[in-house]
Amino acid sequence: MNFEELHRQQQTFFNTQKTKNLKFRKRSLEKLRDVILANEAFLYDAIYADFGKSRFDTYTTEISFILRDISYYLKNLNAFAKPQKVKTNLANQFGNSKIYHEPLGNTLIIGAWNYPYQLSLSPMVAAMAAGNTCIVKPSEVAENTMKAMAKIINENFPPEYLFVVEGGIPEITEILKLKFDKIFFTGSTKVGQTVYEAAAKHLTPVTLELGGKSPCIVTASCDYELAAKRIVWGKFLNGGQTCVAPDYLLVDEKIKDSFLDALKSQIIKFNYLPESEHYTKIINERNFQRIVNLIEQEKVFFGGTYDAEKRYISPTILQDVTWDDAVMQEEIFGPVLPVLTFSGFSEALHQISMRDKPLAAYLFSTDKDDKEQFVNKISFGGGCINDVIMHLSNDYLPFGGVGKSGIGNYHGKFGFEAFSHKKAILDRATWGEPDLKYPPYTEKKLSWIKKLM
Ligand code: NAD
Repeated sequence: MNFEELHRQQQTFFNTQKTKNLKFRKRSLEKLRDVILANEAFLYDAIYADFGKSRFDTYTTEISFILRDISYYLKNLNAFAKPQKVKTNLANQFGNSKIYHEPLGNTLIIGAWNYPYQLSLSPMVAAMAAGNTCIVKPSEVAENTMKAMAKIINENFPPEYLFVVEGGIPEITEILKLKFDKIFFTGSTKVGQTVYEAAAKHLTPVTLELGGKSPCIVTASCDYELAAKRIVWGKFLNGGQTCVAPDYLLVDEKIKDSFLDALKSQIIKFNYLPESEHYTKIINERNFQRIVNLIEQEKVFFGGTYDAEKRYISPTILQDVTWDDAVMQEEIFGPVLPVLTFSGFSEALHQISMRDKPLAAYLFSTDKDDKEQFVNKISFGGGCINDVIMHLSNDYLPFGGVGKSGIGNYHGKFGFEAFSHKKAILDRATWGEPDLKYPPYTEKKLSWIKKLM
């Protein structure tokens, strides 16, 4: 495929100004919604072929997100795109000041495999709403979903507007040589650095949605049953392959034993068996082996079994884990939950603050002071108090990391802004021109300027 030619076509198309038209944007979003709905069964089959994900899970964690994004932008686009009137300072009287949201232009979206539809198509929806063209490169690791997206988008939209590239590292390396107006990347911190370097060559702005180890603190004041239920759901959703899943637990040592029991009974209740259609398999052999290697059998409190043929790893809880264990050195990205303990709340916060800033952090506590310290003392992308993961389902909150977990954010209005330039325009009146700013300058003018400023 000739990527230079594709890119040139998208540049030419953007320059026709067509994508700036709000009717065009809305019609395109409506068409995308119709295409997704018409191909829903096809999309379910593709993801099932990649990692055995059920229809229920695919709808709730993927398709519904994209459809909701489309409805959200259809509803709010006029308001978002409307020039925003702001105050005009004294020195610029008489004038009008407005902020215009201008589409950035030709954008590149690179997706990860763990929620393959949502992570490629939700940014694309935001880019479309903001009036851009898009080249989308989903992850080749989830091969069937990548092909499915390429088929439904490329058959229904012109390549000069939207195009899904099928390919892996060689293809994306070629594409990254081109000059884009925005690159939106979801994936690992390591590859994020490579993408950032490529973007820097053209001074292209980026949003980097990266990963990391997201901690979850469990204090003695919380409701154990409810905390265990929410943690087990969030950790083992998608087979633990969720960027904002609680990576590890920091549990008050006073409640460790009873909390471990609560986690165990919750896993049993959820019935995550090899044959369960609601327990997602590991994406591929390489990841399966990587995760299995993190399970130290003598530290297994519950689970720890696996089946290579089915790429099944049972929900596993590890106890007596130390910060030096292999499982604490990298993002787990699988159904293994290490449990560490702390004796004082400030110690838990201190341990977190010594490490890379995580994408998410969670606290289970009913204590007001704990909550305030959690929010104010440690840095992380975003999170929840008394829940996990759910912050990303609220479109009124920005979603993104900080430090090594990412740059920038999206979702809702923040997605529209991620693909827009805020253009500042001062429209001056052609009357009432004060002479103060023009030479020749005098002491009298200076004293007036001092008074006015
Ligand atoms: P990855 O970094 O391996 O791949 C992501 C994308 O980058 C893929 O499309 C891949 O083809 C491409 N890529 C791979 N090597 C490349 C290279 N050398 N140059 C340019 N592009 C390259 O990540 P992954 O395995 O798909 O996803 C897992 C990671 O993504 C985890 O760290 C997870 O936490 C993170 N993640 C973050 C979010 C978020 O929203 N912040 C969401 C999902 C996953």
